Amino acid sequence: MTTVAFIGLGIMGRPMAINLVRAGFDVVGFNRSTPSIDALVAHGGRAASSVVDAVKDADIIATMLPDTPDVVGILTGENGVFANARPGALIIDFSTIKADASARLAEQGTGGDFRVLDAPVSGGEQGAIEGTLSIMVGGEPDDFDDAKAVFDAVGKTVVHVGPAGSGQIVKAANQLIVAGTLGLVAEAIVFLEAYGVKTEPAITVLGGGLAGSTVLSRKAPNMINRTFTPGFRVELHDKDMGIVTEAARQAGVAIPLGSLAAELLGSLKANGHGGLDHSAVFLVLEQLSGRGGDETPNTDN
Ligand code: NAD
Repeated sequence: MTTVAFIGLGIMGRPMAINLVRAGFDVVGFNRSTPSIDALVAHGGRAASSVVDAVKDADIIATMLPDTPDVVGILTGENGVFANARPGALIIDFSTIKADASARLAEQGTGGDFRVLDAPVSGGEQGAIEGTLSIMVGGEPDDFDDAKAVFDAVGKTVVHVGPAGSGQIVKAANQLIVAGTLGLVAEAIVFLEAYGVKTEPAITVLGGGLAGSTVLSRKAPNMINRTFTPGFRVELHDKDMGIVTEAARQAGVAIPLGSLAAELLGSLKANGHGGLDHSAVFLVLEQLSGRGGDETPNTDN
């Protein structure tokens, strides 16, 4: 049986680890807070007391952590993966981090006889629960082939997109599209409400035409109902817009619409809403039109 160490059992990592258990892997999980580990154990996984404990006997090590410094710390720290895992282990980082950091980690890992893939995902909490994530993978083709059974357990559309770091570049493009689309969906709902048009049927018919998208169908209901329980936290999307803005600048690529979307998410975070679902960008657009009240946004589903 293949042992997978899974580090970072949050909104995304927990259901992904559970899907690996269901697919027949021996999953040993570690997370900074313990309730998430307990949830994995309740579904047939094993608990680790530390990163070292999780990785020491693992064939495959998966990470699903918030940001670049978290992944760098967990992989390269004294009590981290590179210093304590078995040589030859396959490391799959599912987190969304900076592409240049992913490329550096892959190089460092290779030096320590590890194989490292960057494999950021899209599809949200629902995709993680359903095991239908889109996974964009950077790294060596042979390592991609070896990771296939893991990818198949958590994802549906899994594509090798190039060398180390490439997965993160594709994910940055993904976040650009999602942020821009979210902003326009929010604007459309503010506009519809201003005219007193019933928003639910409007969203249904818009979804059947060229304006249809997963962002529209999954996120418009949050905006209409003012329920912003994450999902995908504003502060994480704000982090991703920092990644794509910096990477685009380095490449000399102008992203005017993306920059505007980044400002809206940044403003939301600055106003104390970093913990809400990113669909809460609706609140900023509502405010720009002098609409919406002072009511505290609802975070209950
Ligand atoms: P999350 O905050 O819910 O989960 C992260 C988990 O990592 C938490 O449980 C936290 O306790 C744990 N953690 C952090 N530092 C740790 C450490 N040093 N040691 C052990 N555990 C540690 O975040 P999430 O929403 O699951 O997102 C994880 C990653 O996936 C992020 O990079 C995010 O951008 C990306 N992502 C999220 C979504 C989404 O819809 N939530 C979708 C696609 C990609």
